[in-house]
Amino acid sequence: MRSNTSFTIAVLPGDGIGHEVMPPCLEVLRAAVARVGGFGLNFEEHQAGAEIYRDTGNALPKPTMDASRRADAILLGAMGLPHIRYPDGTEIAPQLDLRFEFGLYAGVRPVRATPGVPPVIADPRASDIDLVIIRESTEGLFSSRGKGVIEDDREARDTLVITRGVSERLFDFSFRLAESRNKGGRPRVTCVDKANVFKSFAFFRKIFDERANGFPGVEADHVYIDATALQLVLRPWDFDVLVTENMFGDILSDLGAGLIGGMGYAPSADIGDEHAVFQPCHGTAPDIAGRGLANPTAMFLSAAMMVEWLSERHGIAEAGRAGALIRAAVDRAFAAGDLLTCELGGEAGTREVTQAVLAALDDRALAETAA
Ligand code: ATP
Repeated sequence: MRSNTSFTIAVLPGDGIGHEVMPPCLEVLRAAVARVGGFGLNFEEHQAGAEIYRDTGNALPKPTMDASRRADAILLGAMGLPHIRYPDGTEIAPQLDLRFEFGLYAGVRPVRATPGVPPVIADPRASDIDLVIIRESTEGLFSSRGKGVIEDDREARDTLVITRGVSERLFDFSFRLAESRNKGGRPRVTCVDKANVFKSFAFFRKIFDERANGFPGVEADHVYIDATALQLVLRPWDFDVLVTENMFGDILSDLGAGLIGGMGYAPSADIGDEHAVFQPCHGTAPDIAGRGLANPTAMFLSAAMMVEWLSERHGIAEAGRAGALIRAAVDRAFAAGDLLTCELGGEAGTREVTQAVLAALDDRALAETAA
């Protein structure tokens, strides 16, 4: 148990709708902490992203990096803008740099249907969707970022890397997460790969099978990436935890977000052994930025994951309760089915959703978290 129960949070709003979803998220976090009590959050805001790159030539300034390293957790909005690029044409993505710099190998992307949000899939079982995609976030195809080669305008090459060290920690993390989820029935981890074609994925699968032996209470199976795309649309309610390579996880997590209403509902956490970044799965959404239309739910749910991670790491039960409270308030805000966000054709923008969630952060929601 830590004696000082105030956590320092490095707050990096970033670009685009990152600026719009972060302030309401801090409001929701403050309200949840005030309701639960027993611990504090100290927010320190720092600059990172495409706009600061445009102004200074550095997307992740040293003070931001140092503060992020010192902080207990990093809360990130969204970063990158299509019209601001590095000289090689790639986009500014400090969120990727943070993953590499801090070794955040486990990209946790829960895909859970929020009660009351109109289901995208017509089957009534769509309301039971509750799975987690774990995207390896420090190697795979992304290890080629900044290192790809183009020869004579004739041929281009990027290399995918799988290492034993990272894969073992990734799989152990995935099995432990499945054990802790209590989804009902025997927990299951599905390894998503392309082991029928690539040596790198045969190696990935071999390590998965080795690590599965250490978790006899968890079922371990494999599905190829192409079949996973099909099955995630046909029967997503059947999955529990899926673990996969970086690029596959990047793509599948957008598919997952689509299953539950859109990017505005999909939270994420990038977790390493010492540090963690919490941010919505969505990007800066330039098409809707500046219009008050961004759905802040994914940001709220990412913040809930943050306080739950802090709770587990430091043994502060109240922080876990604050996370549960935020999730309960989100569920209650949408439960009646009359809060229809813009990406689903409704009128509710950032302010309306925030007000509804703040109003639902009441004694009833608090009582629900006591169980
Ligand atoms: P990236 O390339 O970083 O993934 P992007 O800007 O290409 O980012 P997203 O920002 O993820 O893509 O957005 C994809 C789509 O989802 C866009 O049409 C955007 O308007 C919508 N969207 C994203 N986030 C939200 C949100 N919070 N609320 C409503 N719509 C969103």
